[in-house]
Amino acid sequence: MRFQDLDLPAPVFQGIGAAGFEVPTPIQEAALPVALKGKDVAGQSQTGTGKTAAFLIALFTRLLRTPPPPPGPTTAPRALIIAPTRELVVQLEADARLLGRFTGLRIVAVYGGVDYARQREALHQPTDLLVGTPGRLIDYLKQRVWSPARVEVLVIDEADRMFDMGFIADIRYLCRRLPPPERRQSFLFSATLSFRVLELTWEFMNNPTQITVSGRQLTVEQVEQLLYHVGRHEKLRLLLGLLAREGGERVLIFTNTRAEAARLVERLRRNGREARALTGDLDQRQRLRTLAAFKEGRLPILVATDVASRGLHIEAVSHVINWDLPQDAEDYVHRIGRTARAGAAGKAISLVDERSAFGLEAVERLIGQRIRVEWAEDDLFLPEVRPTAEERRRFAEERTARGHPRDRGRGGPRRSRR
Ligand code: AMP
Repeated sequence: MRFQDLDLPAPVFQGIGAAGFEVPTPIQEAALPVALKGKDVAGQSQTGTGKTAAFLIALFTRLLRTPPPPPGPTTAPRALIIAPTRELVVQLEADARLLGRFTGLRIVAVYGGVDYARQREALHQPTDLLVGTPGRLIDYLKQRVWSPARVEVLVIDEADRMFDMGFIADIRYLCRRLPPPERRQSFLFSATLSFRVLELTWEFMNNPTQITVSGRQLTVEQVEQLLYHVGRHEKLRLLLGLLAREGGERVLIFTNTRAEAARLVERLRRNGREARALTGDLDQRQRLRTLAAFKEGRLPILVATDVASRGLHIEAVSHVINWDLPQDAEDYVHRIGRTARAGAAGKAISLVDERSAFGLEAVERLIGQRIRVEWAEDDLFLPEVRPTAEERRRFAEERTARGHPRDRGRGGPRRSRR
């Protein structure tokens, strides 16, 4: 299939060109013909498969082909995209602006953490597409800054994460206020179409076509995966050796906790490696700044937790390094999916120590393959500059002062300290 064969409105087609997409990805090939006929789609796919462009192309096409309703007193967007995290909303907004550049449609994004008044102000203007996190959307909805009464297209992105992050009551709250499923088109994307996600589709969608794109296999096949068994006390020395050997220019390291991320950044810096952490406790501006530095190649190493990095499009990551295996095997797939985006090959290296070894079996079962084990020769371990006694005392104090703060403001069950 080619984009030319889809009979898209010219502005949408031009947007695809501006984004530099030449041929549809498998999920676009599967979803677009169905979505362009006006049918609802529930897609199982991961980030990195091109799912965002799939629903944006369908959404813009629908808005351009249906005459807009006459303006009312309250801002009433014609399309609504709900996503679980601020970063994902920022990314979706950027993707929508790029693909929708020639459509003339007005896009507004709202998310927690920053710019409360400014975002509200932006929503006072006529808005065609509203993208937001559940909390902020509901907040402005309750203040009647916008009305959901005229939503023609609904997108729920990363539905399984909505459950994980405790947003499901919020999603229900929003969906109940929309026009009924038959009077709108709905898309839902989720890494897994588990029973709870399917229930959501039965409740709020109109007989959706299910599409499964094995992004998992696709991602996993393209990523060269290997692991080292290493004692905890030798890990940093091995990491320094790997960084020197691999010479990757954009290395994303995952840790399981925020505290571990902060500590690792300190240790890397002390050893002459420029690194910064992307964790849930940073404010929104700091996060976006860190991310921009990494994306633009000014920051060679980013140390991130799963929650903080979820859903981010970080292009051209040369290496993903798992400082620890994740506690949740699904996160392994998310992590390594950061390399090997849209066809590029990548490398994922896991450092498996005595603490995380027990998680290996679950990961291998999930990805359906054994990860190649490499044994590090002695010369791969570089000497480590260790902290002075004074520095060690300061870290201990800082750690005590930090306590165990929650990752983000909104409640709900969440794995702690990430
Ligand atoms: P997503 O699955 O939405 O996270 O998209 C993953 C990446 O693939 C994004 O960086 C998109 O810009 C890119 N992408 C989406 N569709 C295509 C396409 N048809 N050709 C090349 N790259 C694409």
